[in-house]
Amino acid sequence: MTELSAPGQGQGEDTRTAELAQRISAVRSRIVKAADRAGRSDRLPALIVVTKFHPAEDIRRLAALGIKDVGENRDQEAAAKALELADLALTWHFVGQLQTKKAKSVARYASAVHSVDRTPLVDALAKAVGNEMESSGRAPLDCFIQVNLDDQTDDAGTHRGGAAPTDVPVIAERIAASKALSLAGVMAVAPLGMPPEPAFQKLAGISARLAAAYPAATAISAGMSQDLEAAIKFGATHLRIGSDILGSRPAVG
Ligand SMILES: *Cc1c(COP(=O)(O)O)cnc(C)c1O
Repeated sequence: MTELSAPGQGQGEDTRTAELAQRISAVRSRIVKAADRAGRSDRLPALIVVTKFHPAEDIRRLAALGIKDVGENRDQEAAAKALELADLALTWHFVGQLQTKKAKSVARYASAVHSVDRTPLVDALAKAVGNEMESSGRAPLDCFIQVNLDDQTDDAGTHRGGAAPTDVPVIAERIAASKALSLAGVMAVAPLGMPPEPAFQKLAGISARLAAAYPAATAISAGMSQDLEAAIKFGATHLRIGSDILGSRPAVG
């Protein structure tokens, strides 16, 4: 593969669009292959393209290539892009750690939040989305409970966000009690420094227990560029793919 140019380097529109098309197609063939191997060719997961740090023009190119679901992990960036791209009728997925004070902003543009990991956040989202439903007629917010799959969570810095598996029922109950929120299922990021398969297997078990109590909550948001095959093997319904489609993110800081 050729070297990717960073966004905004003045590379021709057609070159970048062609590059994105080629990368989407490569990711889609990986998805199809992995689904085949998992015996689920009839149930392909949804592809969410995580566009954080990449410019709004790239999202416009993705939309022209048929992408409808995009993911962002910082409210300020997501809100600005959603406003700029309001003409595109995209579905915005919020996938990052979310402060309760940002709930009001997220409620204006996001269709789904994949990182619901505590009851105060549920309450803040319920209130904010409830207000938006009244004032602008938006639909209820799809909520994925983010689960921490790391067994040795401590202060060693391996924690990548999410609720303890034992906290999932109380968070689920709180989401289900709100008319403004719709309980979609679970979400996780594979812990660093261990193979993704056992992690996603554990997530599948947590998902099965949740769906036993809430039959509509069957979604599993799992799988990033590096581990989408493992996620598909263990039932992912929503993949969150960034760098394998957009290229590496510009360094932060
Ligand atoms: C950035 C991000 C992704 C995409 O990761 P890639 O490795 O670039 O595919 C997925 N999920 C979350 C929560 C992210 O923050």
